[in-house]
Amino acid sequence: MSDMSDSPESFPQIAATLSSIARSFYARGWAVGTSGNLSAVVQREPLRLAMSPSGVHKGELVADQILMVDEQGRVLSAPSVKPSDETSLHLRIVKECGAGAVLHTHSIWNTVLSDLHAADGGLAIEGYEMLKGLHGVKTHLHREWLPIIENSQDMPALAELVGATLSKHPAAHGFLLRRHGLYSWGQTLAEAKRHVEILEFLLEAIGRTSRRSD
Ligand SMILES: [Zn+2]
Repeated sequence: MSDMSDSPESFPQIAATLSSIARSFYARGWAVGTSGNLSAVVQREPLRLAMSPSGVHKGELVADQILMVDEQGRVLSAPSVKPSDETSLHLRIVKECGAGAVLHTHSIWNTVLSDLHAADGGLAIEGYEMLKGLHGVKTHLHREWLPIIENSQDMPALAELVGATLSKHPAAHGFLLRRHGLYSWGQTLAEAKRHVEILEFLLEAIGRTSRRSD
């Protein structure tokens, strides 16, 4: 089912944009080595997701390496290549938030803060002008709660935990996995990219100003 206003971009166009975002995140130090992963909805009914492959260096990712997966995370294109290990988290975020794109980074600052604030279950961000770059936020007085979820290699269990956290915090624009990284999303790929840029900026600003002097 395709509606012109709903899905104006083809899979090759989406794959090209995803790989270019991956390379730009690598260049900024947010997805070094093979870390981080990216996805975008190609079609909703039935769900088709363009997804980055597992184990590919994000500074060298090209459009041809982007896979198409179904709602179970099964690869529908290039069956010899494995999708990212975290595909089930992307699928859960798409279902829970109605997101059109999901982006995941492993920056220094998101890793540091995900550990420092883990005991609080999340991190409150307020008073910053940059918050207005998040969808629906009109003032720097907004209080953004970034939930922190304990990391795990058990992807089905982690996907359940992500789903439960998002239904508890429906206004969140992202969450942190402890000592692992940031997930953010948007209605479009452009919005998801903007949200990552805004959240990475805010996390770095908070990290740099909250360093202990000892
Ligand atoms: Zn990761």
